[in-house]
Amino acid sequence: MHDDRSLVESRLKRVLDERIRPAIHPESTPLEVGIWTAPDEPVPVAEGLSAPRTPIAVGQPWGAPWGTSWLTVSGTVPAAWAGRTVEALIDLGFDKNMPGFQCEGLVYRPDGTPVKGINPCNQWVQIAAPAVGGEQVLLHVEAASNPVILDYHPFLPTGLGEKATAGDQPQYRLARIDLVVFDETVWQLVMDLEVLGELMAELPVDGARRWEVLRAVERALDAVDLQNVNATAAAARSELAGVLAAPASASAHRISAVGHAHIDSAWLWPLRETVRKVARTTANMTALLEDEPDFVYTMSQAQQYAWIKEHRPEVYAKVKQAVAEGRFVPAGGMWVESDTNMPGSEAMARQFVHGKRFFLEEFGVENEEAWLPDTFGFTGGLPQIIKAAGSKWLLTQKISWSQINSFPHHTFWWEGIDGSRIFTHFPPIDTYNCSMKGSEIAHAARNFKDKGRATHSLAPTGWGDGGGGTTREMIAKAARLRNLEGSATVRWEKPAEFFAKAQAEYPDPPVWVGELYLELHRATLTSQAKTKQGNRASENLLREAELWAATAAVQTGSAYPYQQLDRIWKTVLLHQFHDILPGSSIAWVHREAEQTYAAVAEELTALIGEAQLALVGDGTSGGEVVFNATPHEWAGVPAGGARGVARAQQGCTVQARPEGGFLLDNGLLRVAVDGRGLVVSAYDLLHERESVAPGAAANLLQIHPDFPNMWDAWDVDQFYRNTVTDLTDLDELTVVAKDSDAVAVRVTRSFGASRVVQTLTLSAGAPRLDLDTEVDWHETEKFLKAAFPLDLHTERYAAETQFGHLHRPTHTNTSWEAAKFEACNHRFVHFAEPDWGVALVTASTYGHDVTRTVRAADHGTTTTVRVSLLRAPRFPDPHTDQGVHRFRHALAPGATIGDAVREGYRINLPERRIPGDSEVAPLVSVDNDAVVVSAVKLADDGSGDVVVRLYEAHGARARAELRTSFAPAGVQACDLLERPLGEHPALRGGTVELRLRPFQLVTLRLARAADAS
Ligand SMILES: [Zn+2]
Repeated sequence: MHDDRSLVESRLKRVLDERIRPAIHPESTPLEVGIWTAPDEPVPVAEGLSAPRTPIAVGQPWGAPWGTSWLTVSGTVPAAWAGRTVEALIDLGFDKNMPGFQCEGLVYRPDGTPVKGINPCNQWVQIAAPAVGGEQVLLHVEAASNPVILDYHPFLPTGLGEKATAGDQPQYRLARIDLVVFDETVWQLVMDLEVLGELMAELPVDGARRWEVLRAVERALDAVDLQNVNATAAAARSELAGVLAAPASASAHRISAVGHAHIDSAWLWPLRETVRKVARTTANMTALLEDEPDFVYTMSQAQQYAWIKEHRPEVYAKVKQAVAEGRFVPAGGMWVESDTNMPGSEAMARQFVHGKRFFLEEFGVENEEAWLPDTFGFTGGLPQIIKAAGSKWLLTQKISWSQINSFPHHTFWWEGIDGSRIFTHFPPIDTYNCSMKGSEIAHAARNFKDKGRATHSLAPTGWGDGGGGTTREMIAKAARLRNLEGSATVRWEKPAEFFAKAQAEYPDPPVWVGELYLELHRATLTSQAKTKQGNRASENLLREAELWAATAAVQTGSAYPYQQLDRIWKTVLLHQFHDILPGSSIAWVHREAEQTYAAVAEELTALIGEAQLALVGDGTSGGEVVFNATPHEWAGVPAGGARGVARAQQGCTVQARPEGGFLLDNGLLRVAVDGRGLVVSAYDLLHERESVAPGAAANLLQIHPDFPNMWDAWDVDQFYRNTVTDLTDLDELTVVAKDSDAVAVRVTRSFGASRVVQTLTLSAGAPRLDLDTEVDWHETEKFLKAAFPLDLHTERYAAETQFGHLHRPTHTNTSWEAAKFEACNHRFVHFAEPDWGVALVTASTYGHDVTRTVRAADHGTTTTVRVSLLRAPRFPDPHTDQGVHRFRHALAPGATIGDAVREGYRINLPERRIPGDSEVAPLVSVDNDAVVVSAVKLADDGSGDVVVRLYEAHGARARAELRTSFAPAGVQACDLLERPLGEHPALRGGTVELRLRPFQLVTLRLARAADAS
């Protein structure tokens, strides 16, 4: 037999493109179009519907960046089309090669009811089936002219990401607005041929199936009359029926398809646009569910449901109905698909609390899976949090983006720092935008690493980010792939159905212990410093507000601000979305985030002030009360309490060094700052150990060129280290404090177009060197780090994460370790030899790197930690991080892991002093420093119960007694949602006895005796 395979394949492509696809719409007539453009921001629907239109013709430009135009399309169904299926085709000027990330529309009926979204790969609106001749057509389209930011010229700086710099040039031209006849038979033929053509391309050339499909396709093409496709499509289809009916093999991979649209809650568009993106896609999906009985759609992010509920109640009503029918499936149980590297312990917990509670209250649905397809890495603290929220599964595909190492499993147990295990699946299809292409389905089957032991994988199917979600074409293809020889099988299933099946067939999968590090997007730990600081400050203020408001409520009977805290938490949680907190959004998003964080800080500061005032009164005596919101006693002030404190500590000195610079001493540490303003010695007087490596200098600012190969705000590429400039030139070095309770020197440097002022302070009684850094940053594509070369020999170091810390190697033996050249810490990193260690603590930065060298002179090991301060990428925000920034770090020589934990809290939660002289007894106190109180609050149900969350922070077993300053009527262990777990820790008198595993997280709910308040 002669091999004519490529001839037939080429024939299929041309005939599909030029004859069969165009025949889907055999008849077409233009609709009349009128347009009105809103003067600025989007307007309410009623205003858009009633605004006066001016005519616009196809081919004319429309849509300044970020504008909203209301189109009215009208016409009459021709009499000859009676009985046919008639649709409107609305092409706003789409680029079909890009399913989202551009203009979009939401179609309304004249009464304002939303119909469906209009997207690049989803342009149809059904008018009638069957049509009545002479029927009037009148639709309105709310069209958003969102500019294309990423594609065409990827990663080039653009002003389009901020309204003020985006200009007013129209971004689109109306391409087609027609009334058409939809020939379903031709459309089905296209689906048949696409499925078979795409399957064929994946089949082995030496297998019979490929040739059987090829011959069937050839017969179908022979049956098509190219001059009359519509009349011959049915005959062509019948030639394909046989190969389409051949069943899949018994060992075929099984794909659970889940209708999906990954909608970033903000990214290359502002938050307000996401509200509308969600409405458009959701309108599409509720309409599609009505048409397609087998289809199941899933949507995560409770925040997005809350937006539809508020802004498009008609769409939300349909969502509620479809959820009740079990076909629109709320997924993930989180407020947003957040970053997980940087959110603090409580915030990560509250993502689940608020997400799951919303789904429970709105729909009576409890999610058991965490759904984070696109998040940039997963901390070792996360499994315990997922479990404590009452969930048990995790889905993500993002680790497939890792640059260096290929993850060894697709389905596995993921074990966190405390030993909690979560059944985890990485869809081997390696995308969250599956479109049911044969290449994707075949890739999933081939790529699945657990073959032989497992058969199931999941495919999130549909266009996200303005692509409109799943299309009817994807559903048609999935139907053909249900049981097709040569292909994996495809079924629409809910995530929970998939996980239940996957776990049942694979109850004992491999185990991966520790963080799931994404070997990409490492710079998201640093970019947009102010967004990160706003997050950290908000987390700290929320802790204080809950603590003092709960204390005031219990001790003084003042009202607890339930609604206010609920609202602020949701705002902070929203901004932890995986393109906001990571700093990868446009300038508009980060500008608004800064403003929002400022408002959050103001509101929380007021709440804290009110609660503290309620607790200590007006303070007319002239005394001063110190509030300690940290979980550890400090200078005589109990954790979670307040007390008047006289500053009695003394003993700080500063003197000039003969060789230049200054020597600072507080009796605990002696710090030498040389004539260049660098810390050449940080000596622990108690343990008689030097922290700084011989010949090296700490707090050395270093600047690198930083121009990654792509993803500028996201990525730092390893070659950035090849070039480095040490900032040692000094403008000024002066003593700025020489009191006996604190001594400080100020170092001023200029470099490039920037200037940095650092204040190095030793305070009486504090075993740490405080480093306050103010940078007026005006660099381009540079990375600024502060280096601390430590005289320490250690193979690993600890970095704080949620509810504990994890260890990372200091060496790069394997490609896995080498790939972690930039990593995340929360409040501290800690380095230790068995009997001595050093902590570096931070009030707002997350990125750091650790390297080690062995010194030629004394063969000692230098372990260098560098905290990442600032970057200056130019995409997507061309002015990222320009301006003044303030950072606070501290170096704590001699720190144990417990000291690192304590100093980490201390630097984040500085004491508050207010006038007064009364004491405030802590609501709860714990007698073991290793057992750290993470939150004290009143129960969200308004019962007045006190909720306390605590965890073991040292990585060891711990016993502790928790005492209350109120009379507890009972204590119950709870999940994160404050639901009792049926465990009742021993309560004796006012004391709860606790035994904790390493890093174990416990939530206690303490009922108050009736007479307590
Ligand atoms: Zn995303």
